Amino acid sequence: MIEASLIDDFFRRDREKILVGTRVNTIVRGSLKRYLDRRGFLEINPVIISPISDPLNHPVDDPTLSYYGHRYRLTKSMIFHKQLALVHFDRIYSFSPNIRLEPLERKSTGRHLAEFTQLDLEVKDRSRDFVMALAEGMINDAIEKVKGSIESSSLNPHLKRYARPFRRVKFLEAVKEYGKNFESVMSSEAKDPFWIIDIPLEEREFYDRESEDEEGILMDMDLIYPNGFGEAISGGEREYQYDRIISRIHKKGQSEQDYSLLLEASKRGLPPSAGFGIGIERFVRFLTGSEDISRVVLFPKKIGEYVL
Ligand code: AMP
Ligand code: MG
Repeated sequence: MIEASLIDDFFRRDREKILVGTRVNTIVRGSLKRYLDRRGFLEINPVIISPISDPLNHPVDDPTLSYYGHRYRLTKSMIFHKQLALVHFDRIYSFSPNIRLEPLERKSTGRHLAEFTQLDLEVKDRSRDFVMALAEGMINDAIEKVKGSIESSSLNPHLKRYARPFRRVKFLEAVKEYGKNFESVMSSEAKDPFWIIDIPLEEREFYDRESEDEEGILMDMDLIYPNGFGEAISGGEREYQYDRIISRIHKKGQSEQDYSLLLEASKRGLPPSAGFGIGIERFVRFLTGSEDISRVVLFPKKIGEYVL
């Protein structure tokens, strides 16, 4: 019986691992929240279903559900709701559950789940540099809190407070030096987290802001963990003007119709902003030095598996 085997699997979980993962999860969420609250951020409620969600730049199944005759999508990220929130507030964050029905080739990366939480934040009238500095501070603070409360034998042995500012490498330079697979090579070699910046337009979504100085280059960044743990954060500055958004939608071959709500909002005036999302489970994976993200999460939605 398949249902019984799900419960068998649950009762057989490695209690030590999920206990440490869940304790680290508790500390990390508290630490990130306090860091932002102290800096004037407001926590907004997560959005779970909405007519509009992130198109993402890689294929995922995109199921919709119908409610009283209206179509809703499951949230893949809160990008558009973050931009909308800044119509009323200056700086916001949400611990946002995301559903991404990832393709099977992501099953054995050790860092993908079909359901995860990102701490997704956005700041009005601020640049990429501002949110990068914020991220570096948040991460160091959380590491300190975790090291202060969890026995070191349960943590990533390389963990430390990292020297700031973190190193920045331009995307095209990383490709030139390390090839297409630069992220995993560089992450494995690195002893400290580092940024990949200035990402080419075709690599990312239409809402990421194109540089004023360099055509085809986005004011985007990824933070990469050291010791082979891969991507931690993605973010950047955003497109907020109607003409620029619509031209980027066309460039991507996407449908204006799908983003009519965003376009309507941009006609009325969206503010300039920058922000990012940091995956909480991935942060816990890094902090605990676990190869497999699903071992530190109580109810992991493993890619391609039938799970609780
Ligand atoms: P993205 O904007 O797609 O890069 O997502 C933001 C952050 O969420 C990433 O940098 C990861 O930390 C995390 N993330 C994205 N996809 C997944 C996934 N399938 N499972 C776990 N964490 C994820
Ligand atoms: Mg990313």
